[in-house]
Amino acid sequence: MPAKKATSRQPARELLFGNLWEYDPAPESAPAFIDAKYNLFINGKWTTPKSRKHFDSISPRNEEKLSEIAHAGLSDVDAAYQAASKAFTSWSKLPPADRGKYLFRIARLLQDRAREFAVAETLDGGKPIKESRDFDVPMAAAHFFYHAGWADKLPYLAPGRRVEPLGVVGQVIPWNFPLLMLAWKIAPALAAGNTVVLKPAETTSITALKFASILQEADLPPGVVNIVTGARETGAAVVTHPLAAKIAFTGSTAVGKWIQHTLAGSGKKLTLELGGKAANIIFDDAPLDQAVEGIINGIFFNQGHVCCAGSRLLVQESIAETVLAKLKVRLKSLRTGDPMDKNTDVGAINSKPQLDKIRALVQSGIDDGAEIHQAPWSLPNKGFYFAPTLFSGVTMSQRIAQEEIFGPVLSILTFRTPEEAVEKANNTPYGLSAGIWTDKGSRILKMATELKAGVVWANTYNKFDPTSPFGGFKESGFGREGGKQGLLDYTTLA
Ligand code: NAP
Ligand code: MG
Repeated sequence: MPAKKATSRQPARELLFGNLWEYDPAPESAPAFIDAKYNLFINGKWTTPKSRKHFDSISPRNEEKLSEIAHAGLSDVDAAYQAASKAFTSWSKLPPADRGKYLFRIARLLQDRAREFAVAETLDGGKPIKESRDFDVPMAAAHFFYHAGWADKLPYLAPGRRVEPLGVVGQVIPWNFPLLMLAWKIAPALAAGNTVVLKPAETTSITALKFASILQEADLPPGVVNIVTGARETGAAVVTHPLAAKIAFTGSTAVGKWIQHTLAGSGKKLTLELGGKAANIIFDDAPLDQAVEGIINGIFFNQGHVCCAGSRLLVQESIAETVLAKLKVRLKSLRTGDPMDKNTDVGAINSKPQLDKIRALVQSGIDDGAEIHQAPWSLPNKGFYFAPTLFSGVTMSQRIAQEEIFGPVLSILTFRTPEEAVEKANNTPYGLSAGIWTDKGSRILKMATELKAGVVWANTYNKFDPTSPFGGFKESGFGREGGKQGLLDYTTLA
């Protein structure tokens, strides 16, 4: 990334405020307005961490430094909880329609600054700009619009009962959809009358901090939302703080289990959205070209950094060869590389540790005897990249069929009968999502009840909507986000 310098193409705002990132002309060229250094957002103000420590945030696109992010320690997290606790008294008593107005305002401000947020999200996290522009940012705004509408309709969540907020909610989010996970967490919490302490992931804090500036623009009362950045100790401090009435966590199953153990007996409400190893099931009567697009989208969307990714393809034996041939052709047309290029389909892997994890699991697939197929693209020299990969001839016992790879790697297995498909699909510790591709409506309905997955898509994949609850079974977690069910998880019924 070239140095920050003014050019004639820069808009006036960029020249006025400085501290902006500029990149080469061909790719997306809107400014991201990323500050050189960020402090913590506590009680409506930017606050220096007590330790005075900051860490570098780099772009996985080219490993260049984007910003310095504050490292919150125990006393900073405590200050955030104290502010949220104080703010709860007045926020929870605000006329519900007024809470809704703040949420509408936040949604509209996100829309106004959509392009800037999309660029920042792509630079910080590595996802293709077309995805942050067309999916992450508009969906984040949609979650605020949806929950704004609920704020004054809470009694309809549970007719005959009194619907009350919980208090201060501690929220910890992952790096795969940084702004969108923030919206999934903050919008329902505020609509229900709670206040928030949120910790973004260490590698992707920037859009959460930019979001704090939206809260300031929206004039949200101080302390209603506090954003504390840092690494896993900061996350642990957020989940164990005595003032938290509820913890909402999205991330790995290992950390989710630790949180569940740690909070056992505390009386705190907990929702966990963890990993997955979804089966995308293709029957021989499916519309094949559409199914192939669904398979490609199901695994390569966001480089496969998706908890509900269709990472296991279960294809009926009679069409397995045809589907593999079509997938191999499609693999060649997937553009992999600079996520700022508007034509890129598969961008950068979020971090070096994640890239190492993907490489190790792919190596295990090769060692276990599965057949690997990769697109013949040359990848950028700098940054973290991994070629979209298919494995055929996979068996259920191999690690690539069992473990969440969280990268652009698809494991292909076959089945003969619907019963075998269900059996294989459910044979995993996870239970987050699944896909079914068939012409028969009756088969869809039957299988949807048999699959142990919180979300089942039929003849489509990775479709999201704020009205629709999302969440898992088994080691994929519990509780729902989105829809009426997600909102109920931020309330208590009296
Ligand atoms: P992770 O460690 O679970 O991180 C998720 C969030 O929890 C981050 O904000 C993280 O902070 C924080 N955290 C870490 N340890 C914590 C603790 N003891 N207490 C409270 N918060 C804590 O996930 P990861 O290491 O980034 O990714 C590892 C694997 O998790 C991936 O390969 C993937 O399989 C899975 N994953 C799943 C999802 C999902 O959407 N379900 C999302 C991301 C990852 P820091 O990032 O600052 O350490
Ligand atoms: Mg980053």
